[in-house]
Amino acid sequence: MFKILQKTFSVGTATVDYPSIAPRLAEQFRGCPEFDFAAWSDARPAANACPTGAIAVCDRDGVRQVTVDYGRCIFCGECAEASLDGAVRMTQRFELAATDRRDLVLFAEYTLHPDGSHAELQSATSGPGAEIPGKRIAAAIHNLLGRSLSIRQVDAGSCNGCEQEIVALNNPVHDIERFGIHFVASPRHADMLLVTGPVTRNMELALRKTWAATPDPKVVVAVGACGISGGIFGTNYASLGGVDAAIPVDVYIPGCPPRPEALLHGILLALGQVRQRMSSHPRG
Ligand code: SF4
Ligand code: SF4
Repeated sequence: MFKILQKTFSVGTATVDYPSIAPRLAEQFRGCPEFDFAAWSDARPAANACPTGAIAVCDRDGVRQVTVDYGRCIFCGECAEASLDGAVRMTQRFELAATDRRDLVLFAEYTLHPDGSHAELQSATSGPGAEIPGKRIAAAIHNLLGRSLSIRQVDAGSCNGCEQEIVALNNPVHDIERFGIHFVASPRHADMLLVTGPVTRNMELALRKTWAATPDPKVVVAVGACGISGGIFGTNYASLGGVDAAIPVDVYIPGCPPRPEALLHGILLALGQVRQRMSSHPRG
């Protein structure tokens, strides 16, 4: 007993004060790829190397359209290795959650060179993550949550990698309960559904029933590349693809799996949706 107390006091506070303070990331941690569209001479090698089809190239009438979908990206780094011009590089960015699926898609248009490379960048969109809740939403949480926020996690067909990160939200390092947020066993007690995995056809009905059993106002958060688009599994005889193929989604959290802070970032972003719905849908 004495040793346990001694250890407790010597370790001190283990909880990371995210989002007020940025987390310390391991050197090896890999976040999303970053694309310098102006310097990208040819997107085709990256598109061919991408295992999830997150990069798409379409040539038509002397114009090349390149799209990059962070909702499909598994942060594998193959595109960076295939792009010898250095226009694609892996970063440690993980705060990518978005309330609109379209915000996860980058788009660039080039005039096409006769040798097949891009000639000139005509236009490009910026990436997701502009809406970073950080301190602003963290400060609003306590005003919003006169009571706590309850989350029901639903595995609609995941590999369980995402679940491992979700479980980490409850450990002393991330301690999600410090926000008054906790996980519950029944959708009837939940404000939020946190859904992982591609929606397998076997789980489709269960997911729809879980959504119907969750009282309004409710929000749905799709977790990971699988939850957003089907990820590495895609859409096939056994998989419907992303969560929004079965139920409406309010927030999308990219990653494979998203690290705990990325999950927290998305959940905090979803609180903005909760606040809106609570004002238009007050519970008795
Ligand atoms: S990092 Fe993303 S975009 Fe790049 S190859 Fe991997 S899945 Fe495709
Ligand atoms: S996003 Fe990655 S970690 Fe999460 S369920 Fe899909 S394959 Fe597994």
